Amino acid sequence: MEEQDLHFLANKVADLIINAEKIVVFTGAGVSTESGIPDFRSPGGIWSKYDPDEFTYQRFVSSPEARRKQWQLFGEGFLTSDAKPNPAHYAIAELDRLGKLDCVITQNVDNLHQKAGMPDAKVFELHGNMQWVVCLGCGKRYPFDQIKARLDKGEETPDCEVCHGILKPDAVFFGESLPPQVLTEATFRSHNCDLFIAVGSTLVVTPAAYMPSYAVQSGAKLVIINLSSTPLDGEATILIRAKAGEAMSLILQRVKEKIGY
Ligand code: ZN
Repeated sequence: MEEQDLHFLANKVADLIINAEKIVVFTGAGVSTESGIPDFRSPGGIWSKYDPDEFTYQRFVSSPEARRKQWQLFGEGFLTSDAKPNPAHYAIAELDRLGKLDCVITQNVDNLHQKAGMPDAKVFELHGNMQWVVCLGCGKRYPFDQIKARLDKGEETPDCEVCHGILKPDAVFFGESLPPQVLTEATFRSHNCDLFIAVGSTLVVTPAAYMPSYAVQSGAKLVIINLSSTPLDGEATILIRAKAGEAMSLILQRVKEKIGY
């Protein structure tokens, strides 16, 4: 996209932000990849190196061998590297501090919105969060680092200290349902916003990708910021083909100028 087109469109998005009452920002893998986190689905992404069939929820709960292999990868930092937020995360958190956001709905599991300063209560993680490990028996949650320390000491398939149940990273695996409360809340907020900004998502992984459709059906304006095309491009009020960090930084800058911040 031409530099001047990007500035022109960022300016338009800033106007939409200023005039909106309830704004939902929706983020996908494109926002995380700019922090060096591998994309699950893109060519060259994680699943070109590993067999996704080995990483299903069903395999994890039914096969100790599958659990051992998966914990080995998680222990090596697969999906849990200490990545840092990038300009997109910071711009989104700053929009929230300016009082502009209803919430962030994300497909990412890396905790980077919170690291950038978004309050936990305003981030709806449709696919869970890799910073936590949950017991499938009693529901007790452990910080990932605590379990990582046990893996480093040689445990292969860590179990729950309380009930000896199976421990699983609290990210949604293939074949696993989305957390129902998060899904309900995200659906409600998508239906009730008047501006929906989808950043860095190809909008194909459902049910997450239904969120922008819910917003449009309810009369919200839709902004799509993504490097490649999405099935909802035709519905977008504004479509920006650019990197998430670059576009969101420019938009934030324009918003600040317009409100005299
Ligand atoms: Zn337990």
